[in-house]
Amino acid sequence: MLLWIAGDSFHWLHNGHHRYPPAPGEESFTDMNIRHLRQFLGDRVKVFQFNKDQERQNGADWEMWIHNRSHGVGLRIQAKKASKHGRYPFDHKVKKQNAYQCDLLVQHALAVRCVPVYLLYNHWDWEGGSEREAAQAGRLCGHVAADGSHHGCTLLSAYRVQSEVGRKVDGNSLRHKVLWGESLPWNRVLCDRRGTTNASPPRSSGDVLNDIFTAVTGLTFMGLAQSPTYSSGPTPSHGTWGDAAYAQTPYVDGVDDALAVLRHGPHRLPPHVLRLLKAHEAEPPPPPVPTAATVLVDVSDDRAQTPPEPFEGCVRFR
Ligand SMILES: [Zn+2]
Repeated sequence: MLLWIAGDSFHWLHNGHHRYPPAPGEESFTDMNIRHLRQFLGDRVKVFQFNKDQERQNGADWEMWIHNRSHGVGLRIQAKKASKHGRYPFDHKVKKQNAYQCDLLVQHALAVRCVPVYLLYNHWDWEGGSEREAAQAGRLCGHVAADGSHHGCTLLSAYRVQSEVGRKVDGNSLRHKVLWGESLPWNRVLCDRRGTTNASPPRSSGDVLNDIFTAVTGLTFMGLAQSPTYSSGPTPSHGTWGDAAYAQTPYVDGVDDALAVLRHGPHRLPPHVLRLLKAHEAEPPPPPVPTAATVLVDVSDDRAQTPPEPFEGCVRFR
């Protein structure tokens, strides 16, 4: 399913750039992804969509929780599509708050106990060193598309983007190629069928969440390791220290918070997610931080919730 969505995004963007311009925007991709998640996951998914005006005020696009109704892994996702020539607007500044979008993404993610990531939409395939390494370390599943289109949707730590934007503020240019080369296919990170075949019995939700947690942690540590801000202490790498965006969240604590979200495995669902689990999709309670949509994916073992199609987080059986 995630593999299928990646392939669909890949071809859609490729055609938009090369055959039938213009290419769709990030919002279209997000809407389409959410539609597909809803369609494939049936009653295992709950989707809450919020006011677009709210979303424009901040760096984050949408939030996804993979959970078993008590514990889960939360991602705060900022979508970025590749331009025809493989560039991404990583250094986008949110005018209203005079802050970099990547900084707001991190700040908002930490406020809701999420891991901040960029979701890149790409229209070409590659195999990067980081992907090989992560796969060898067992953090990624082995599901890939023969035509490379699983690279249509890839994840990159927002901390990695922050450090790159910091470099740019110091007078360097953004290294788009380096960043996409470090990003990992989202299906291989979020797969719920690692090391199984079609015939294997379903895995327990605990195992599924632990695998996803490990992969997401690996992705984040890769991002932090590349970041001078986090590896050498709280030195400001760009000019947003004194900005209002940071007024409530001192950066020094931010480092600890980044690690706290990743400590001790999948953590208890925070109150705003528990509230959404009980809420009606059309009438969500207001989110704690602005968000375009919040998607809850239930991987719990309760088979009563199984949709007619077999649940499959990465590949779609058909
Ligand atoms: Zn997989």
